[in-house]
Amino acid sequence: MVAIEERVFIAGAGPVGMTAAARLVGSGVPVTVFEGGDDLSTESRASTFHPSTLDMLEDLGATQGLERHGLRARYLQYRSKSEGILARFDFDEIADLTRHPYRLQCEQWRLTRVLYDLLKDDPNFELLFGHSVEGCAQDHDGVTVNARAVDKTMSRKARFLIGADGASSKVRAALGIEFEGFTWPDRFLVLSTPFDFSEQIPDLDIVSYVADPKQWHFFLKIPGLWRVMLPISAEMPDDAALDEAYGRRCLDGVLAGAGGAEIRHRTLYRVHQRVAKTFRDKRAFLVGDAAHINNPLGGMGMNGGIHDAVNLTGLLAKVWNGQIDIEQLGLYDRQRRTVTLDAVQKQTIQNKKDLEAASAADQADFRSRLHRALATEDGTRAYLERLAMLASLKQAAAIT
Ligand SMILES: Cc1cc2nc3c(=O)[nH]c(=O)nc-3n(C[C@H](O)[C@H](O)[C@H](O)COP(=O)(O)OP(=O)(O)OC[C@H]3O[C@@H](n4cnc5c(N)ncnc54)[C@H](O)[C@@H]3O)c2cc1C
Repeated sequence: MVAIEERVFIAGAGPVGMTAAARLVGSGVPVTVFEGGDDLSTESRASTFHPSTLDMLEDLGATQGLERHGLRARYLQYRSKSEGILARFDFDEIADLTRHPYRLQCEQWRLTRVLYDLLKDDPNFELLFGHSVEGCAQDHDGVTVNARAVDKTMSRKARFLIGADGASSKVRAALGIEFEGFTWPDRFLVLSTPFDFSEQIPDLDIVSYVADPKQWHFFLKIPGLWRVMLPISAEMPDDAALDEAYGRRCLDGVLAGAGGAEIRHRTLYRVHQRVAKTFRDKRAFLVGDAAHINNPLGGMGMNGGIHDAVNLTGLLAKVWNGQIDIEQLGLYDRQRRTVTLDAVQKQTIQNKKDLEAASAADQADFRSRLHRALATEDGTRAYLERLAMLASLKQAAAIT
């Protein structure tokens, strides 16, 4: 029998697992993180930190480190290819609700590095690189994790396990939790280029979503690069979509003449809308992509995952310190799963529909929602609260 350790185990050192680790260690809870990779990932993925998330990360001492590698986006705009700007929102209008009235455009991998630097010398923090979680089993007092390293396998038991091991979560599989939802037929292509679109497109903000029935796209700027994302039809093979000449044609389609620019990175990925049937099974929990995945329109995937980690660890620390009973951990599932379905999934699906809208009725509906949001101060603030993911936190807090 494996002896139980007075710790919380976390599978996965991505942005969500590392946020959970930082929160627990900050509350005096010893943590072991099992990371399958040999180092922290530097993959180019999410690049948006919302105001609500920046507030949470500031409490961990991490926002300052991110700001050094990011760009502040005070405005967000919607455009159409044929009409120009449809609506422009200014996060300053909700400056009374957040300490960070802007989106920070910064690569997600910066966060794991910043958090690792904050944690690495803390005696309550252990990170095992090259250790893949293969499975888990639980009994009345703890969870046993089976992990594999290059030259060995191991079993260790702790009081709780947080599955932050991404979309193909082994923890979710071991718990037998369904990942319900669907996969979009189209894939998304991301092209990163130093070409300065703002010099060529009048009034382009560094976060701009462009509606177009033929090829919607978005522009996001991070330090030194613009990212353009656009859909790839189901019929096109992956290698054709990743072909350099095709990438150039896409950039030319977005802005005539841009196709001559250097393309630094090309990423093609399949997009899903899926939510785990439950985020909790007794002493084991799912957070981040292990619990939910969605399309990136609105930048809500990683941010929602960080919100999960903050919610769960707040409750876990209270259980650890004897302030609440273990059964109250069910609140995590009720609050976070509800807002994942009601806010993140609905909003990201609607965002995609709005940008690709082909019928006159759908296009008019999108424009009238934008105009209504801008018509009154209350409407603008409510819209911005949804964009900034403050509304979903308010909704979660009201669930008991
Ligand atoms: C190509 C791409 C582009 C994206 N772009 C955007 C975007 O623009 N906006 C947005 O909001 N979101 C985007 N996302 C989603 C965003 O990156 C995720 O929501 C975010 O990474 C979730 O963080 P996480 O920590 O939950 O999972 P991950 O970042 O996937 O981290 C999981 C960690 O667990 C480790 N791991 C996996 N399996 C095991 C195991 N069995 N044992 C131990 N460790 C394990 C992995 O090595 C990794 O370090 C994108 C995703 C992809 C794939």
